[in-house]
Amino acid sequence: MATIRDIMPAFDLLQPTSIAGARELLEQHGRDAWVLAGGLDSLDWLKDRIKKPKVVVDLTGIEELKGVRSTSDGIEIGAMTTLTKVVQHPVIKEKYGLLAKAASVVASPQIRNQGTIGGNVSQDARCWYYRAGWPCYRAGGNICYADTPVGRNSEHAILHADRCVAVNPSDTAPALIALDAKFVIATRKGERVADAEDYFVGPDIDITRLHILQPGDLLTAIRIPPALAGAQFYFEKVRDRNVWDFPLLNVASAMVVSGGKIEQIRIAVNGAAARPLRLKTVERAVLGKAPNAATGEMAGELAVKGAVPLQFNAYKIPLMRNLVKRAIGGVEEAV
Ligand SMILES: Cc1cc2nc3c(=O)[nH]c(=O)nc-3n(C[C@H](O)[C@H](O)[C@H](O)COP(=O)(O)OP(=O)(O)OC[C@H]3O[C@@H](n4cnc5c(N)ncnc54)[C@H](O)[C@@H]3O)c2cc1C
Ligand code: SF4
Repeated sequence: MATIRDIMPAFDLLQPTSIAGARELLEQHGRDAWVLAGGLDSLDWLKDRIKKPKVVVDLTGIEELKGVRSTSDGIEIGAMTTLTKVVQHPVIKEKYGLLAKAASVVASPQIRNQGTIGGNVSQDARCWYYRAGWPCYRAGGNICYADTPVGRNSEHAILHADRCVAVNPSDTAPALIALDAKFVIATRKGERVADAEDYFVGPDIDITRLHILQPGDLLTAIRIPPALAGAQFYFEKVRDRNVWDFPLLNVASAMVVSGGKIEQIRIAVNGAAARPLRLKTVERAVLGKAPNAATGEMAGELAVKGAVPLQFNAYKIPLMRNLVKRAIGGVEEAV
């Protein structure tokens, strides 16, 4: 149970200045090490003494992990680039406005100034039981405190639950999936590049983490190919408090329309499951159709097929249906 919130507990703070140096330290310390980016998720866990690493590997001194670079194949965003820098970057604003919009509605300006894109896609679940140190499935126990008739589950999953009903809380994740981004990971065996949608995992694959990173792995960059640069984008986030809050649900889509018909589309939602969901059935169903209200209606219905509400989150089903409907049918919120 989290009871102490005063000073930081003791750990060895290691501050490498290169990716190779960070990887070496992570390899050396294995499961005893914790990767520190902006600290907005990390420091809660450490201060609350719920995660107790012996060693913290701070990435802030690694310049090669920072900044946005144009490449021969789109752009590459260093994992330690702050969300504010992502929002303000001229090429991202001009060509990949979907990501700029998603990053611009993360939390508050102070959090965006400190939080990094790598941390945003690698952050842990915000389920209050888990964050308070309750010994639930995700924490290695054999119970879910949220999935009970009286559990507090208004912000939890409506799709793909498997013992744990927590959701992925990232706003940038669905935008990166819609843009077909690639995640570059430095591993023991060398560089691995994963499609954005494959970076995230649900409890059926691994109940202890929301992504594919293993101890010792480092997310170094996110690449966005040019295929959907300047496409028709849509991002919408619904949250309890508009001033700053995690998404209850969000939707991101990138669409190419030609001759009044949808020629190409990628669409994803987050906040509905433990991983951001790419809606492939919806994508297939709307191809070749006009992006209008009728197509949106059909897409919204398809998106929520199989959704199962918990005691207090049934509102998420019509909410997701409507977000998808608006993303396809077109409304004033288009980026
Ligand atoms: C009050 C509050 C409100 C928030 N609201 C929102 C919101 O509305 N929408 C939203 O999307 N987010 C929200 N966030 C999350 C925030 O935006 C941060 O992006 C996120 O917490 C983590 O980013 P960070 O850079 O601080 O990383 P950290 O907290 O340092 O790291 C997060 C996790 O990722 C791992 N990690 C980080 N970088 C790497 C890397 N390069 N390689 C391997 N592992 C890595 C760390 O080990 C840690 O487990 C909120 C956070 C707070 C505290
Ligand atoms: S939803 Fe997941 S994280 Fe929350 S109490 Fe249940 S098992 Fe734990």
